[in-house]
Formats: sequence, C-alpha cells, structure tokens
Amino acid sequence: MSASQPPQTPEVPTLLVKIFGKDRPGITAGLFDTLAAFSVDVVDIEQVVTRGRITLCALVTEPTAGTEGELRATVHGWAESLKLQAEIISGRGDNRPRGSGRSHVTVLGHPLTAESTAAIAARITGTGGNIDRIHRLAKYPVTAVEFAVSGCETEPLRTALATEAAEIGVDVAVVSAGLHRRAQRLVVMDVDSTLITDEVIELFAAHAGCEAQVAEVTAAAMRGELDFEQSLHARVALLAGLDASVVDKVRTEVRLTPGARTLIRTLKRLGFQVGVVSGGFTQVTDDLKERLGLDFASANTLEIVDGRLTGRVTGEIVDRAGKARLLRRFAAEAGVPLAQTVAIGDGANDLDMLNAAGLGVAFNAKPVVRKAADTAVNVPFLDAVLYLLGITREEVETADAHED
Ligand SMILES: [Mg+2]
Repeated sequence: MSASQPPQTPEVPTLLVKIFGKDRPGITAGLFDTLAAFSVDVVDIEQVVTRGRITLCALVTEPTAGTEGELRATVHGWAESLKLQAEIISGRGDNRPRGSGRSHVTVLGHPLTAESTAAIAARITGTGGNIDRIHRLAKYPVTAVEFAVSGCETEPLRTALATEAAEIGVDVAVVSAGLHRRAQRLVVMDVDSTLITDEVIELFAAHAGCEAQVAEVTAAAMRGELDFEQSLHARVALLAGLDASVVDKVRTEVRLTPGARTLIRTLKRLGFQVGVVSGGFTQVTDDLKERLGLDFASANTLEIVDGRLTGRVTGEIVDRAGKARLLRRFAAEAGVPLAQTVAIGDGANDLDMLNAAGLGVAFNAKPVVRKAADTAVNVPFLDAVLYLLGITREEVETADAHED
C-alpha cells in the first residue's frame, strides 16, 4: 500500500499475538524476529511493563496461506524457551474504531483505593462511556491515573464523575480529548490559600494586632456571605497606621504551597505563561512574581503615605469580577485563547475566573467553589494540577534532572 492512500480497515484476516511474562531485554525484538520469518505486517503494537511483567500485544496480518500452523508453533516454541506465556487469536480486521465523544479522566487518590477505582469505572460505564486505555501518571505525591474514555460526551461524564468524586473523596478531572488539551498555554492562579498557604491580610493583621477581627471578616467573605469589596475596605482600614516596614516582614513570612515551585518550573519549561491574581496586595504579589519568574501579577495596592499604611487601597479593585477580567487581559496579552487557559483558586471570589477559563480548578476550595468548578483538587499539593494536564511525574523529574 502506498503511503498516500488513506488508512483502510478491511476485514482481512489478522492474528493477535499476546505475550506475557517476566520482562527482560530482547523480548520485543525476539517476538518480531520470530514473526518476520512469516513475512507478516504489523497492524498495531501495545506493550506495558507492570512490576517487571511484560504484556506485549501484536496485531499482525495473516501469514501466507498454509503457514499459520507453523507460525503458531514457532511463536509458542520461542515463548516457552523464555518461560513466557503466549496466546494467538485469529480474527479479522483492525481494532474497533474508538467511539465519538472522547475524554481524559484523571483520578487523584491519596491513596487510590480499589473501592474508589471501582466506583469511578462503574460511573464511566453508567454514563455510556467505554474505557479504552488506562495508565499511571504519578505515584508521588499522590497516585494519579488517567483513563482515556470514548462513547459519551465530556459534560455529562464530568457531571456524573463530580458527584461520584465528592461521595468517595477522590479528585477527578474530566477534560475533552484533542489537540487543544496540549495547547493550554496560560495558567492563572489565585494567591491566598492557593499559591501560598497564608491569607496575606492576616499576616499584616498579626503585625497590627487585629488578627481576630480581620480573620472574621475574611472567613465571611470567602464563604460568599459578604461583598468582597466592602470586606476588603473594612479589613484594610484595620491596618491604618501600621509602619510600612511591615511589608518586608510579611514578604518573608509568606509560605508557598507544597508543589508550587514544581508546578511553576514545569509549566515554564513547557512554554506556558503563568500569572497570579489576588484580592490581596501588590506589595506581596510583585515580590512573588519576581521570585518565581511569573509573567503576570495583579492585586490591590495598599496605600502608603509618610512610611505608614493609610488603611486604604489605591487603583483598580481586584475582586471577583476583577479576577475574571484580569484572566481575560492576561490571555489577550499572552496571545492565548480563553479556551486554552487554566485558572486555579480556592475562594468564592475566584468563581468567575474559574468559570471563564478553559479549565477551572478548585484547589482545596470551600464547598461552594468546589461545586461550581469544572474540577476539584483536594490534595494539598499544587503540582497535582500538572497531572490534570496529562503531564506525568516521570516527565517532571526527568526535566528536573536535566536542569543546569
Ligand atoms: Mg484564595
């Protein structure tokens, strides 16, 4: 067949050759060397090695008339000589074409139990989906596996699995398959309780001795019970008179979320642009931008006059609508379509941004946010977001090992 012809799936006779056993160098070469004597063509090959055991499946065209018996005997003889199990199944044609409606389902478990795997698989089947492939993305810091599913639309699958995930306490992300998944090129993160484990205003409040009052207003705002802008003004007013030198102290007190550096470093290597938007303060986000090599950062600015905080903020207020507006602005500046953006956040004021992004990830979020987002990550490791993008731990570590 010439290379210019479209692929065909004629119902010609084919043989499926399956080899299973202890892995060692040379098995794949040995099998195909054995098959080569019968001048068969390769239609498909799949191979996996799990804990030192190889499963190798070769789908080949049938050999010349009258030689199939000899092929079978030769392959079995070769396999026995290596203490491998061989199975040869006659049939017709190629693999069944995958159904339309293809999605990637990433499951994060800490640990991943057999029970939750069964529940997820049953939900996929119950939604009309077929699991075509499964592979592990990571075993650290969480166990992450990816199911390639076909036969059902992404949205209903996401809805069904979100319900299941909440019930059984694992994290499940469902994204539609296709090239755009690999084209996601901008990640925008919230800062407080997302990129960092702190709420920055509470760090300032500790220096001002008004932690309790500020924490009370913050909690109510994050639960969606208070208008963000009003609560921002109320909290910042409590900081009036604080010496500006506190800014430097707060910068050193900020603690990055575990996995934050790995996430950002890996995204940057992949050519992503990365930004932060915060209802907190530029006095901290500008510093994070510089330290972490971020492309974008935007937040509210604490007004400082004569070396003291005035208790006011200046400039455009970054609130719930503002965060979504900034996501759009960053995407435009980065030249990335909104559909190819990822937003990560934990609070009610992140919801518009999460919904506007191509993929919205609720990170250890309040229940109201978790329910509204595409995807929830409830393990406390920010680099788990990489697995939602189909990036494996091995790829992350290989890139780290090659770092200058
Ligand atoms: Mg937050």
